[in-house]
Amino acid sequence: MSSHDTHTAAARLAGKVAFVTGAGAGIGRETALVLARHGAKVAVFDLTEADGRETVRLVGAEGNTAQFWKVNVAVESEVKAATDAAAAAFGKLDILVNNAGVTGVDKPTHEIDETEWDAVFAVDVKGVFFSTKHAIPHLKRNGGGAIVNLSSIYGLVGSHELTPYHAAKGAVTLMSKQDAVVYGRDNIRVNSVHPGTILTPLVRELGSRGEGGLDAYLKLMGARHPIGHVGEPADVANAILFLVSDEARFITGAALPVDGGYTAV
Ligand code: NAD
Repeated sequence: MSSHDTHTAAARLAGKVAFVTGAGAGIGRETALVLARHGAKVAVFDLTEADGRETVRLVGAEGNTAQFWKVNVAVESEVKAATDAAAAAFGKLDILVNNAGVTGVDKPTHEIDETEWDAVFAVDVKGVFFSTKHAIPHLKRNGGGAIVNLSSIYGLVGSHELTPYHAAKGAVTLMSKQDAVVYGRDNIRVNSVHPGTILTPLVRELGSRGEGGLDAYLKLMGARHPIGHVGEPADVANAILFLVSDEARFITGAALPVDGGYTAV
């Protein structure tokens, strides 16, 4: 048996250092917990200090290592400062998960103003750009690494809602492929994941805005996923775990739907 066959769960990311943006809630928090459970030391980056510190506490309660940095991913100076500080604190960087994201206004193109459009792109597109830009020197110094960008099913296909979010997540889909090509020779793999509807604080908030509240929204969205229900943060975190692990060492530039079949229809 090769070492690839004999790894234990804890060894999958043993010795690795991972930065997760937006790790104060939802998919990001679950990703921090899962990566730490599999051996990684995790830097928790989030805008909301209380939530980020709670993620660190939850990781610590499982006997694993995490540290918090307050970062707005839309502000380049904050991203650079936190990235350099976390790389110094943990000694290196192996894994970046660009997870922080916002949905923004739910309006069709002819009703959106420039400020509303820019607000979504600042976080969802420029945030991924800044985080990747400042992680690359550390990943190069490390001799390689893995980046996973959170796009969405809405970065692969259209729908009747959230127009600027579709455009932003579509950009993330292509940024991932482009960076995969450009940094392949540096042994840096870049993939995107495309969650369907995942029950997180973001979706709870979105769902409770509509008629019939959250239950009606989940029923409606669940029916649009061939598997018959919406997903959970762990469904996405486990896909990310695979993509950042050495098991995925020949996978780069891939766009992986984690969507209960939503985009297969
Ligand atoms: P969430 O709103 O539940 O959590 C997002 C976290 O990111 C929060 O802790 C928030 O404080 C943080 N954040 C927001 N803006 C930030 C900023 N500018 N800088 C730093 N941190 C910031 O979101 P979620 O549902 O867990 O989604 C996570 C990612 O997955 C997002 O990119 C989202 O677009 C994507 N996604 C989610 C779903 C879903 O159904 N939940 C589906 C497809 C894609």
